[in-house]
Amino acid sequence: MAQAKKALSRTTKKSARAGAAGGNGTKGGARAASKTYSNYIGGEWVAAAGGEYFENVNPADTRDVVGRFPVSTAEDVNRAVAAAKAAAEGWRRMPAPRRAEILFRLGNILIRDKDSHSADMTREMGKVLKETGGDVQEAIDCTFYTAGEGRRLHGYTTPAEMPDKFAMCVRQPVGLCGLITPWNFPMAIPSWKLIPALVCGNTVVIKPAEDTPLSTYNLVKACEEAGVPKGVVNMVTGYGAAAGKPLTEHRDVRLISFTGSTETGRLIAGACADRNAICSLELGGKNVIIVMDDADVDLAVEGAVWGAFGTSGQRCTASSRIVVHKKVYKKFTQKLVERAANLRVGDGANANTDMGPVINAAAVHKILGYIEVGEKQDGAKLATGGKRLTTGAHANGYFIEPTVFTDVAPDMRIAQEEIFGPVTAVIPTNNLEEAVEIANGVRYGLSAAIYTQDVNRAFHAMNDMYTGIFYVNSSTIGAEVHLPFGGTKATGNGHREAGTQVLDIFTEWKSVYVDYSGKLQRAQIDEVSFE
Ligand code: NAD
Repeated sequence: MAQAKKALSRTTKKSARAGAAGGNGTKGGARAASKTYSNYIGGEWVAAAGGEYFENVNPADTRDVVGRFPVSTAEDVNRAVAAAKAAAEGWRRMPAPRRAEILFRLGNILIRDKDSHSADMTREMGKVLKETGGDVQEAIDCTFYTAGEGRRLHGYTTPAEMPDKFAMCVRQPVGLCGLITPWNFPMAIPSWKLIPALVCGNTVVIKPAEDTPLSTYNLVKACEEAGVPKGVVNMVTGYGAAAGKPLTEHRDVRLISFTGSTETGRLIAGACADRNAICSLELGGKNVIIVMDDADVDLAVEGAVWGAFGTSGQRCTASSRIVVHKKVYKKFTQKLVERAANLRVGDGANANTDMGPVINAAAVHKILGYIEVGEKQDGAKLATGGKRLTTGAHANGYFIEPTVFTDVAPDMRIAQEEIFGPVTAVIPTNNLEEAVEIANGVRYGLSAAIYTQDVNRAFHAMNDMYTGIFYVNSSTIGAEVHLPFGGTKATGNGHREAGTQVLDIFTEWKSVYVDYSGKLQRAQIDEVSFE
């Protein structure tokens, strides 16, 4: 009981941030009672061993507590890993088409519950309902697309060096997978990892972001309803250092699949290297739209607004740089600034909101810090926005104006570092060659786009941009699940999620030789004689 009280009075990361942001989140008294959620371990819904909870609050109104979730520690991770280990053999032995049947059921459950999952997601992370609908839809698409792999999971055959010998390669599951996910796509990103891991025959422990555990809870609950056997999927909620880190260090976890910041990714890669675990990383971005002088300027502005301010700029693929040919620079920036200034910022649950809040007080602090850097240190021109909204309907949330900097130089910090908020930097350029050089001149390599009517320019840019994703006459956001997703340079470590390429993360190859000659045949590598 004492422990439960302590847990109730404990301030959480989000609520502590709410306090720092100007209030303790209460309105004339105590917070309304909110639902208490559990970890999912070995098919049971259980409290964390320590009995503590953190609050998941609505970033549009921090008085609204979405739910209380377990503060997990190494002890909970150990239990979850043990459950996943116990379930591994049974799941591996289930034929992949049968595993896929369960996942098709999961897809239908997600379709049935799409609206309520979208509403939950808007409430816990702020983006507008249309976008959270898209996030859930991505999980649905990923489920159906990847479950189809249950009847493919192709290997291949190839001729052997010798007669009467057969050679082939088959995929095998890697084993036990730890999945660690961020808050900006709280169902889509977990699904990108979970569904392929399962269809390939792995068991998993998932640790969702502390800001958005409810959407992963909804996904895991749907797995339970679909009939995923006990122990195959396990979920522990909690903070990165307390719950994520022990997962990355656990001896029995063969693979860590991580999406999040480049800094955390580096720590995780180190933990995996220590025990030779497989590690797949999807990290930050500093994505770019190039607008050429022959571009359809209105279309380019449309793409820039969507790319820069969708999800309040909190997408790894957000258009945080726009490199514009000097001949259309004035026209483009005028239109962009006007559109940005007119976006309606508010609660994502309201139908007329264009842009929701940012995720938490730490994000507000970081984004406002970058805006100050842009103005005072970099010397860029703040063309619109730049302030936190704190009155009226914005008083209790984390709202920042859509912000456009113009006359930005490529080496300024706001043009180099990931801000992860509703801020974009417009950089003038003289020609395509220079534009591509600027566009490539950052440490990240996730997504890039060009607006031009000239097919030659489009192909030159496509060929010369060193990114994992490239768009022509479309924004930097909008990946589709049947194409590989990921980036170059500091954005990752060479893996790709989605597409069939994701199978290379969650399976390992086994080469199989079948000799039916009835005699010892030596491969060319072994052509030695003992006589
Ligand atoms: P984050 O790195 O702070 O956290 C991501 C996850 O890692 C969370 O679940 C967190 O609890 C956990 N974590 C934190 N420290 C840990 C540790 N020491 N050990 C193990 N786990 C730990 O990132 P975030 O703020 O949640 O997400 C934003 C970042 O994610 C941005 O940089 C964005 O670009 C990136 N992102 C990348 C992609 C992509 O596919 N490339 C997609 C979405 C987001």
